Amino acid sequence: MKYFDTHAHYNDKIYSDKLDEVLNICRKNNVEYIVNVGTSIIDSYESIEMANNYSYIFSTIGIHPQNAKVDKVDKLYYMYNENPNSKIVAIGEIGLDYHYTKEEKQEQKKVFIEQIELANTLKLPVVIHTRDASLDTYEILKNEKKAQYGLLFHCFNPTDDLIRLVQKNDDYMVAFGGNITYKRSKSFYEYLNKIPLSKIVVETDSPYLPPVPFRGTINNSSNLSIICNKLSEFINIDEEYLTNAVFDNALKFYNIKNN
Ligand SMILES: [Zn+2]
Repeated sequence: MKYFDTHAHYNDKIYSDKLDEVLNICRKNNVEYIVNVGTSIIDSYESIEMANNYSYIFSTIGIHPQNAKVDKVDKLYYMYNENPNSKIVAIGEIGLDYHYTKEEKQEQKKVFIEQIELANTLKLPVVIHTRDASLDTYEILKNEKKAQYGLLFHCFNPTDDLIRLVQKNDDYMVAFGGNITYKRSKSFYEYLNKIPLSKIVVETDSPYLPPVPFRGTINNSSNLSIICNKLSEFINIDEEYLTNAVFDNALKFYNIKNN
């Protein structure tokens, strides 16, 4: 079985001199592709550099809602234009996060909308981070600015509104990570069965969110096998079938040609 990690942060300092060791283990465990995700201007530059250094790593660029106050979207335009041959496959992670702050809502919304516009201009999909903000996220995507070239809800936490968005738009998808192995509410499993397999991909969000039984350790893409195993159990399909399907879905979503 082959694995595609649709969301990771390998430029995180926590890997530092262990990075090659960690990535080699991932490769030995059949991780074929990784998308390294940007969260700020500096972080996005580092992410592009990661993609330039490793053939199997691709990159997104974007401003995470927590950085909406400090970073400017026009810098992402320059970044994209400066890197014409880079492997930038999406704008992300972008969105809304009201978990720690309620004061920056307007700034977060503005930067979110500007980045959807950027993605539409560049004909790229978007990777969405939404936390404690599903209603506003829904309102923006439905009424203000549609992502025209695909959308992926990263670390998906289902709500009725977001599920409806995903169902209504062909190229809208969801990503599940290690947190599906944590204790979830009953409704989570009911939601799972409302999402067709063709709209599901997997991610680790490394170095965060390691699955059970590795909580408290530094996550890495090898743990995708645990996530696929759990997911196949929850939605009651053959693990190999699911693993192949989510791999193909990820290639298609990020528009990457398998070689
Ligand atoms: Zn992330």
